[in-house]
Amino acid sequence: MQHWDKLQTFIFQDMDVRGQITTLSLSHNAILAQGGYPPNVAIIFGEFLAAAALLSATLKYSGRVILQAKGSGPLTTIMAECSSDGGLRGIIRGNLERCTELAGLLDFFGSATLAITIEPDEGERYQGIVPLEGSHLSKCLEYYFDKSEQLPTKIKLASSANGAAGILVQQLPDTSNNEKITSDWHRVTALLNTLGADEQLSRAHNDQLYLLFHEHQLRLFDPKLLRFQCTCSRPRTERALFSLGLPEVSSMHQERGVVEVTCQFCNTQYRFDEDHIRAIFNAHKTPLH
Ligand SMILES: [Zn+2]
Repeated sequence: MQHWDKLQTFIFQDMDVRGQITTLSLSHNAILAQGGYPPNVAIIFGEFLAAAALLSATLKYSGRVILQAKGSGPLTTIMAECSSDGGLRGIIRGNLERCTELAGLLDFFGSATLAITIEPDEGERYQGIVPLEGSHLSKCLEYYFDKSEQLPTKIKLASSANGAAGILVQQLPDTSNNEKITSDWHRVTALLNTLGADEQLSRAHNDQLYLLFHEHQLRLFDPKLLRFQCTCSRPRTERALFSLGLPEVSSMHQERGVVEVTCQFCNTQYRFDEDHIRAIFNAHKTPLH
């Protein structure tokens, strides 16, 4: 596995097609180190992280892409987030002990949905929801692009115990539907189908692209570096406590003598004693209990 994590955009100069390619190792390992996941759960988690990285390339503004699968099977939630500046994080929720023999998405999740959320730092968030059907996340995402943007899209994700990778190709918007575009698209997707997961996980981006598309003119842009980065902070945690309300937080404090909040994404622990809680609620004169 390569010891860098990056996302690169490429465009074909002889076809109306663009793409993204990503490889994750250190960020993937740091995120998976937060939980003791069975190998098959780690594989599927890696695919979600690689997919979030690929989709982050479509962000037009500063913000983040959040992929969230919710189901009723042994796994209830997988969430993977990638920000426009390359910060990745994710969580898994469910009964991991019941997952050890499973392989397909439906086995893990049962009946489930996949929400794709685009969250700009400023402005309205956009969310598309598609059923989590079939055995591969890539197929659900291709369906999402087809429905939400009417852009033919092909995605290949690869994941191992040590890393994850992904490649996405997509027709350019506003291209007229002529014969050349149709035959170009068939050619690109047929070539992409020849890419093996081992090659995705072991070869540099330009090697993978050369292997696939050496008969075409292609421009590969500078990489964006990716890393594990949680967006939690003490002020954000204070705001979350404030939104719970003083009675609720007082009773949490009464139970244990201190309020401890652990971030689900990075396990950072924030502790609040009585003075902190009074400050959050500006409740200097009010007795807590
Ligand atoms: Zn955190």
